[in-house]
Amino acid sequence: MARYIGSVCRLCRREGEKLYLKAERCDTPKCAIDRRSYAPGQHGQGRTKFSEYGVQLREKQKVRRLYGILETQFRTYFKHADQKKGVTGENLLQQMEMRFDNVVFRLGLAGSRNAARQLVRHRFFTINGKKVNVPSYALKKGDVIGFVASKKDKFPVKTALESMKGKTPPSWLTFDYDKNEGTVLELSSREDVTLPINEQLIVELYSR
Ligand code: SF4
Repeated sequence: MARYIGSVCRLCRREGEKLYLKAERCDTPKCAIDRRSYAPGQHGQGRTKFSEYGVQLREKQKVRRLYGILETQFRTYFKHADQKKGVTGENLLQQMEMRFDNVVFRLGLAGSRNAARQLVRHRFFTINGKKVNVPSYALKKGDVIGFVASKKDKFPVKTALESMKGKTPPSWLTFDYDKNEGTVLELSSREDVTLPINEQLIVELYSR
């Protein structure tokens, strides 16, 4: 499966805002955007004004990078969102939020979506009792996320459970600490996405 393997801090600097792609480091003085708050590259400190198209493009890139999705897959998500009933932009964000890797991150079992994706790929989780290692798997209402029994004592699981302490999952998710299981209570709605996203710009971009 193709994925971006370059510097993730470059992505934040390109978008001009923190995308929190590196877990704890993002809240430390080591954050690249705090140290160099301009776009990467030779012309990074040059022109900062964008055309209408440029603004729409940057918004799309920001969302794509936040959720760690490559262009082709993102376009497919948009196509599905457009075909579904309801508001296209909201449908698009809902699809992003219901991805397996995002739900693992939102439950607090990983410090970043990248870390969550890695845990999923390494077969640490089950969905409704079955091993699933597909980060893009679309979760539904009532799905239960658990740990693979043979990996319960492994270091990443202990770290994941440790990292949950003090974190509250969003209202559409819940976590049972006795069973070590997360449950999807509802499909995520627009209000649950607290990130500064203007999804209408993405709709306008793809409608050109
Ligand atoms: Fe972005 Fe985090 Fe890197 Fe800062 S440390 S630039 S927020 S990924």
